[in-house]
Parts: sequence; C-alpha cells; structure tokens
Amino acid sequence: MREEDSEQIICCPYCRATYEVGCEHTLAIVDETFNECHGDLASEQYDEFRTIIEGHFLRLLKSGQREGLSWDDVNVNELWNVVREDYSPQDEELSVDMFAFTNLFIKLLEVAGGKRYPNSLIEGYGPGMTSVIRLFYAEDPARVFEVARSELEARLHKEGR
Ligand SMILES: [Zn+2]
Repeated sequence: MREEDSEQIICCPYCRATYEVGCEHTLAIVDETFNECHGDLASEQYDEFRTIIEGHFLRLLKSGQREGLSWDDVNVNELWNVVREDYSPQDEELSVDMFAFTNLFIKLLEVAGGKRYPNSLIEGYGPGMTSVIRLFYAEDPARVFEVARSELEARLHKEGR
C-alpha cells in the first residue's frame, strides 16, 4: 500500500511504526473499491455491523413494515430503501448495498474517534486492479468499535418522519 501522490512511508500517528511493520493502533483498512475491510478486529466488526443492520431490517419487513419508514441518517435510509425494494415475503435473509454500507462504516469509525490517515492511499493488485483505501488508526481500537457499535444501534432505531 502506498500514498497516491507521494512516496512517503505510511506510519502510525501514535507510535510512528510503519504500516509494513504494523502496531496495535491499526484500527481498520477499508477498501472502498472492493468493499472489504482488513485488520484483526476490523474485518470481524465489518461483518458483524452488516449482520446487525440486515437483521434489524429483516425484522421490520417481516413484521409488515414496508412503507412510510425513513431514517434520520442518510446512509441508513439508503440501505433501507434498497432492501425494501428487493424484499419478497419468502426471503429469510437480506443483503445490503455494499457501497452504502462501506460508507456508513467509515462514518461510524470517524464519529467513534477513529483517526483517518489524511492522504489518499492506493493498493495495487496488478494492472487495472487498484483499490482506494481508507486507513484508520486509534489509540484503543477495541474502544472505538464499541462506540461505533452503539452509534450504529442508535442510528438504526432512530426513525425520522
Ligand atoms: Zn502505533
């Protein structure tokens, strides 16, 4: 992984360890091109957040709530609108729009105190296969995920009108 516009070495804002060496402050490596998330705790949390959203929406749809719902949070609203349109009553699971989900995940990390690496980062996987990466650091990654998760729950339960 490298910076898009310079050859500067990426390092942790807390302990100055280089990205290659790694340290406990790496919060998440979010691939905005392929909608993936890397990092010990982060990849797990990424899947879990998605499961929370899908479960919540499925419960709403199963209970017959389909029309007239909207959310204060624009990303949550966008996620809802897609699943609502795709849903049929025999569905036992949903899948959210991954671009909208990745967007929401990034915002939650920011709100929860994750420190975004300021420059654009790219990862090359060969010709024509380049990902845009958002790298996040935190002094205490586990704590940031806790806060991000309660923020997600709050946003999911806050319906606008
Ligand atoms: Zn560090």
